[in-house]
Amino acid sequence: MEEEKLIEKIYSTQTIEKDELEYILKSDDQDFIQSLFHKARQVGDKIYGNKIYIRGLIEFSNICKNDCLYCGIRKSNTSAQRYRLTEEEIMYCVNEGYELGYRTFVLQGGEDMYYTDDMYCHILQQIKSAHPDCAVTLSIGERTRESYQRYHEAGADRFLLRHETADQVHYESLHPENMSFEHRMNCLHDLKDIGYQVGCGFMVGSPNQTIDTLYQDLMFIKEFQPHMVGIGPFIPASGTPFENEKAGTLNDTLKLLSIIRLIHPHVLLPATTALGTIHPRGREMGILAGANVVMPNLSPVGVRKMYSLYDNKICTGEESAQCIRCMDRRMNHIGYEIVKDRGDYKK
Ligand code: SAH
Repeated sequence: MEEEKLIEKIYSTQTIEKDELEYILKSDDQDFIQSLFHKARQVGDKIYGNKIYIRGLIEFSNICKNDCLYCGIRKSNTSAQRYRLTEEEIMYCVNEGYELGYRTFVLQGGEDMYYTDDMYCHILQQIKSAHPDCAVTLSIGERTRESYQRYHEAGADRFLLRHETADQVHYESLHPENMSFEHRMNCLHDLKDIGYQVGCGFMVGSPNQTIDTLYQDLMFIKEFQPHMVGIGPFIPASGTPFENEKAGTLNDTLKLLSIIRLIHPHVLLPATTALGTIHPRGREMGILAGANVVMPNLSPVGVRKMYSLYDNKICTGEESAQCIRCMDRRMNHIGYEIVKDRGDYKK
């Protein structure tokens, strides 16, 4: 059967042609799509087994100097209520997370210049000296190479910086004029050069996205060889220029997760909160389509609703202990289990 051959071809060559991507994204043949998911899952299982890595996500500030057109915490969204956590509050989340079994912490926030390099370094040193067996991931946007170097020396192991789109014209349609595609790409290269485990990624179904731009995203992943790739559906955020745009779909996101697993087999691939937001079992479906990471929320419950990158974000009402138990159950239910270690990239 032609379609089985197509999956086999993508699997064995670890690449994809543009017309093949188009064919997959347009297909609604359930047997074909299920066998794509199945193949991707097999590839992931062979490398990582039925183990799912967990990352404790600490959303430490929603204050941002940028004005990305899609993002609910963009500077000019006056309806966003702003907050930032102190070092003490961050450490409280880390310590609680450690007790719950987390061995990776992701510090994510807007580009909040209140946090100086010295402050980030101090926080990193605190975390690493309290918990030397843990990995720390930063997701704090664009800074200078010198700053990235300093954070790395202070103990940051990994860095998530979604490229958002690998097409410059598309990038410019999602961002204001003072942001630059070239700068974002340079940041990613600097981070890799410095020695971070690096994650790039993009939103599925962002306004103006096409087969062409998605194909460029996939080719960028193949070329850049990131350790992690974060993708999730675009979801409109009220108070932003894109508030009335259409959301990305569950099916497209799952198909792209599978394709990414097939063309870059060792990648650490989260089933994201956005995926869980557009479908109640979205994260489970993501795992079954080839993802192998989940990122439960470790932020203080009091601020979670305020970190609204998009509308209706899930898991904003539960305590951290409830979140990890819920995730454990969800994974067990589909035959996977969460593991309590750093969950590094396997070569
Ligand atoms: N400021 C940091 C990280 C925070 S935003 C940075 O620039 O890297 C984390 C990610 O959320 C972004 O990279 C973007 O891809 C995603 N995001 C933002 N708004 C979104 C929306 N409306 N729907 C879905 N994902 C969104």
